[in-house]
Amino acid sequence: MDGSDLKPLFFDLTKDSLALLLASRFKAPSYCASQIYDWVYRKGVRNPASMTNVKKALREELGSLLSFQPINYKNYLKSRDGTFKFLFEFEDGECVESVLINQDGRYTICVSSQAGCALGCRFCCTAKIGLRRNLSTSEIISQILSVSSFASRLGIEASSIVFMGMGEPLHNFKRVVSALKILTDPDGLGFSERKITLSTSGLVPAISDLYKTGLRVNLAVSLNATTDKVRTELMPINRRYPISLLLDTLK
Ligand code: SF4
Repeated sequence: MDGSDLKPLFFDLTKDSLALLLASRFKAPSYCASQIYDWVYRKGVRNPASMTNVKKALREELGSLLSFQPINYKNYLKSRDGTFKFLFEFEDGECVESVLINQDGRYTICVSSQAGCALGCRFCCTAKIGLRRNLSTSEIISQILSVSSFASRLGIEASSIVFMGMGEPLHNFKRVVSALKILTDPDGLGFSERKITLSTSGLVPAISDLYKTGLRVNLAVSLNATTDKVRTELMPINRRYPISLLLDTLK
């Protein structure tokens, strides 16, 4: 492994964190973070030397400060209905899946937020693995960048994102919120909040915390039952956060 492998990943940083980093290291004004975001996320440029409106001295330092290479998928499969499934394998060997879903010509990217899951829903294959670890923000963003560029090579544009792959997104709150900020930043990936959906089993405190961030993405709550007795059998999380509390929180 050479030194470059140990560099922090650009794709872990929200624009505000990038601005703070550049200010502390180079006394760079905050608009530099917007410029770099624009190059990377809007123009697809990965080489800091090509970011021509960024000050030359900063450009020269950027490449040694941060890695601009997202993680790519390892393999993919196409199913008969036009859905593509992608396997991502990370440096520590943990694997997750992403899916490019075709709904009557509209494409959605379904991403994973954790390797495995701790919540133990009885009907879920991921539950059998248990929680291996949370994904980093860059591992979440990499799924979207890698699947999007696969799609664009086929002339497809994915117009929405769902967090419905492996894991409970609200159980990996901090990193998922950073990913949402990158996704919705106009200099970042520029998705409308209405085009992003988090699927949750109903982690009540995290639903409130998400609301407090000001991010107004869609929530898809898996109820799976209308009584606490049945829901607790299917989804053990219901013991802590029963249906009435969940519904009150969603109001
Ligand atoms: S929260 Fe989602 S990923 Fe986790 S066990 Fe339940 S259904 Fe599976």
